[in-house]
Amino acid sequence: EMEITFNEMIDSLKENFEKQEAFVSNASHELKTPIQIIKSYAQLIERQGKSRPELLDESVGAIDSEADRMQKLVEQLLLLAKHKNENKKQEVNIREIVEQVIQTIQNAYPERRIQLDAEKGNYKIHGNLDQLKQIPYILIENALKYSETDVLVSMYSDAGKSFIQFKDFGEGIASEEQEKIFDRFYRVDRARNRETGGTGLGLAIAKEIIETHSGKITVESDVGKGSTFTWELGEKH
Ligand code: ADP
Repeated sequence: EMEITFNEMIDSLKENFEKQEAFVSNASHELKTPIQIIKSYAQLIERQGKSRPELLDESVGAIDSEADRMQKLVEQLLLLAKHKNENKKQEVNIREIVEQVIQTIQNAYPERRIQLDAEKGNYKIHGNLDQLKQIPYILIENALKYSETDVLVSMYSDAGKSFIQFKDFGEGIASEEQEKIFDRFYRVDRARNRETGGTGLGLAIAKEIIETHSGKITVESDVGKGSTFTWELGEKH
């Protein structure tokens, strides 16, 4: 009996180690790609910039957007690395942070409409403010990225539990993809998603933060109709 427990322990250590290895290897790959693209455009300018000035606009634009990508990736990697060690906890009113985040995003995308429909309820939890703010940020940015119309955020309570829902009417997610989108670096359409500037880390970060705060996240989606992400707040609040 002891032996089984010991073997199980070794297996789980091995599995953890393999996950870490896969993570580091994915992260390096994702960082190398923009570096290579930036370097090749820099070389192109160096070699042909003088004789073909029309190349400059395109190259500088590409360098800029790849640098943005890298910046976002590094920020998100730091977030994943940091959140395990951070223990600054306080009472956080999720309704307030949702309102603040909507305001910030609305200012950045004035042409889009983000609607909030909040029922009265208890949306206070004990947790880390900086981490919790990431959740509405990630889910609203995704809803905007993967749809073209309004985004609806609703907050409600049901049977003593509180929920925050993020709804879009965009491209949707096929049912076989719905579990995988929460994996680190997973993107449904890698090629197309390069254009939307995704890193594949957003939902993994949101899920980790939600779960360390004893909450749950689920998705309901229909291809071509849209997606709804539901964040159930932890019960201990
Ligand atoms: P990304 O940086 O690629 O957006 P995420 O982890 O946030 O990374 O999301 C993973 C993938 O899940 C996305 O690449 C996209 O394919 C899919 N996805 C996430 N949110 C939505 C949404 N609201 N509508 C459709 N697809 C989505």
